[in-house]
Amino acid sequence: MINKRCSGKGGESSADKGYEEVRIEKSKNVCNVCEDYAKRQSAKPVAVMCCDGACLRGEIARQAANILCHSIAPEKTVRICLGGAFTKNTGQRSLVRNAARVIALEGCFVNCSSRMMNGVIKGLEPEVVIADRLYEFDRTMFGVDEMPPEQILAHARTVARKIADSL
Ligand code: SF4
Repeated sequence: MINKRCSGKGGESSADKGYEEVRIEKSKNVCNVCEDYAKRQSAKPVAVMCCDGACLRGEIARQAANILCHSIAPEKTVRICLGGAFTKNTGQRSLVRNAARVIALEGCFVNCSSRMMNGVIKGLEPEVVIADRLYEFDRTMFGVDEMPPEQILAHARTVARKIADSL
């Protein structure tokens, strides 16, 4: 006899296949400095959302997003706070929704930032950039502690420059 609770398939309809449903608690908390930032940045044409993963690949993507948005192309790009944009329908999500161009900078092929934001903005079609395809490294590495910080920065700069060339 199959125990449906343990099979992982109980209650899943065919319409749900391929998707996970999440229930996010609404927050009454508003970060005014974040909302002010979103208003100030709203005229910029390119929104850059990054997966911000905690592993080596996510860290390189995170640093690349910061270099791109704050050093190389600050006049064209706005760096999105992914957690704020995903969990709250306020300024950060509006930056993504209204941008002429949205770049999803992913640490790896799991594509977390684009999948997250596709779940909260209907019809969103970000340009997905998989950062770890843009630099050479030992692909058996996982943690941020497995690569020297200066090497991480060098790879982040490589990724940022390659994206900047497409702007
Ligand atoms: S895209 Fe990859 S590196 Fe980024 S959060 Fe997801 S699993 Fe981690």
